[in-house]
Parts: sequence; C-alpha cells; structure tokens
Amino acid sequence: MSNPAPKIRPMLTSPRCGAKTRFCGSCRSAAVRGKSRCRMHGGAQGSGAQKGNHNARRHGLFTTDAIAERQQIRDLLGEARKLLQTMR
Ligand SMILES: [Zn+2]
Repeated sequence: MSNPAPKIRPMLTSPRCGAKTRFCGSCRSAAVRGKSRCRMHGGAQGSGAQKGNHNARRHGLFTTDAIAERQQIRDLLGEARKLLQTMR
C-alpha cells in the first residue's frame, strides 16, 4: 500500500495550485496545465491579463514633457508672487 495505484499517480504528482484560501492555508487543487493556479483561482481558460501588460494604463503624468511643463508653471507662479510682493 506504499505505492499509489498507477491510475492516480499523475494526479498525485501534478503541481498544486497553492493559492491562499480563506479557511486553512493554501489551495490543494491541481493547477491547470501550463498555469500555476487551479481553475478556481485564476487558471481557467481566458482569465488573467494578456501577455505584454496590455492592460496597464498609460496616463503620461510622469513623462519628461509633463514634468517640464509643471516646472515651468511653478516658475511662472513664483515670479507672479514675487511681482505681487513688490506691488504691496
Ligand atoms: Zn486553487
């Protein structure tokens, strides 16, 4: 009885999901072939992001041009404040 039956050996040796569960420890279901999670934890077909990070949002807030533009605005506001101080 130490050796499992040949029919269930692939099931026992397949990689496990390992996702964190709400109840006790990690998920022990078999991972979907080619993925690291089971069908219930993101391994299902069609789940997950596309390869190459196509879902990431690009807003351009930290581009070199945007940073330079904000710096110009700050400089202009500083000059305007100085001008207002001299007019008092
Ligand atoms: Zn799982």
